[in-house]
Amino acid sequence: MALPPRRSSIPVQVGSVTIGGPAPVVVQSMTNTDTADVAATVRQVADLARAGSEIVRVTVNEREAAAAVPRIRDALAALGIEVPLVGDFHFNGHKLLKDEPACAQALAKLRINPGNVGRGAKRDTQFAEMIEIACRLGKSVRIGVNWGSLDQDLLTRLMDENSHRKAPWDAMDVVREAIVVSALDSAARAEELGLPATSIILSAKVSGVQDLISIYRNLASRCRYPLHLGLTEAGMGSKGIVGSSAALAVLLQEGIGDTIRISLTPEPGGDRTREVVVAQELLQTMGLRAFTPMVVACPGCGRTTSTYFQELAQSIQSHLRERMPAWRETYVGVEEMRVAVMGCVVNGPGESKHAHIGISLPGTGERPIAPVYEDGEKTVTLKGERIAEEFQELVENYVARRFARREEAR
Ligand code: SF4
Repeated sequence: MALPPRRSSIPVQVGSVTIGGPAPVVVQSMTNTDTADVAATVRQVADLARAGSEIVRVTVNEREAAAAVPRIRDALAALGIEVPLVGDFHFNGHKLLKDEPACAQALAKLRINPGNVGRGAKRDTQFAEMIEIACRLGKSVRIGVNWGSLDQDLLTRLMDENSHRKAPWDAMDVVREAIVVSALDSAARAEELGLPATSIILSAKVSGVQDLISIYRNLASRCRYPLHLGLTEAGMGSKGIVGSSAALAVLLQEGIGDTIRISLTPEPGGDRTREVVVAQELLQTMGLRAFTPMVVACPGCGRTTSTYFQELAQSIQSHLRERMPAWRETYVGVEEMRVAVMGCVVNGPGESKHAHIGISLPGTGERPIAPVYEDGEKTVTLKGERIAEEFQELVENYVARRFARREEAR
């Protein structure tokens, strides 16, 4: 199935990662630790990077946080983690970057919110100071507009202009236009200050799905900067996942978006890496990228009255994620493997035959046996107490047999 053509954008280098141009859509994430707490931040960045985040953003909100950034960078390097770090600056970024010059050096990209760089006359000088630092150090910049902190002077001006139109726009149309104009005008100003277009990425985040789609379509039609997509304040759990997926899938399907972040609010004590897994799954289920073997599992029904097959599907998915880092090192293309875990004979054999390897578990009332299919052929029938373990062994053997080892592929 042909994938939708991508919108043409200028490639931007963020450390070792390219965003835009022909590069695949990049997955990124953000920490929620106190950046000044070096140990906690290193731990979380490492977790996010190991989960597959290709860029990680950290808050830089005070001098201690700015001073911690180079130490975080060094500690990650000592762990062998070279993920590019992005500094998120608001209000005092110009001052922090001047006071802690090693901070900017350690970052691969600066995120600047044009609505939060200062008020009145200070805004232009403080924005210019940050851009000049980025120019001098050769850093890329994301100009990240957010409607929760939209430049109020700009909005007032556009509202005023709107009131003089013969047929004034709806107020929300003016707000959406102000978000786009804020991003484009700030990028133009950054270029005037000497920042090359090859160092600029734009984002324009809002929390409504339809607003986000409309704003990004507009932005995409008016510039060639790479676009960072994300639904801001998406929320917790399924609401955040559904909202982000709905908005981002529409845009990605139209070829819009060069990097994504899923802004999930973690549940108390929840795992921050969830946002990375969701971003990867979104791209993979759309066929845009492949990160890890996918488990195709049926939803279960009255034919699966026990939780056995749910537990098996979950254990297989966890096993695949755990094994993936080692497999990726060893085997070419293993991330494209599809594994089926099905609940009964109705669709089990058929779906299993379409997967690389699949198992059809016994539904309620069926004989307690589980046929396994590899590349469309039934190879073995499992039974007894160790079906889960034996199936995992079969998956291991299948991977070793089916995918070329890296040294052989060279
Ligand atoms: S494959 Fe069987 S258990 Fe799974 S949803 Fe279909 S009928 Fe139900």
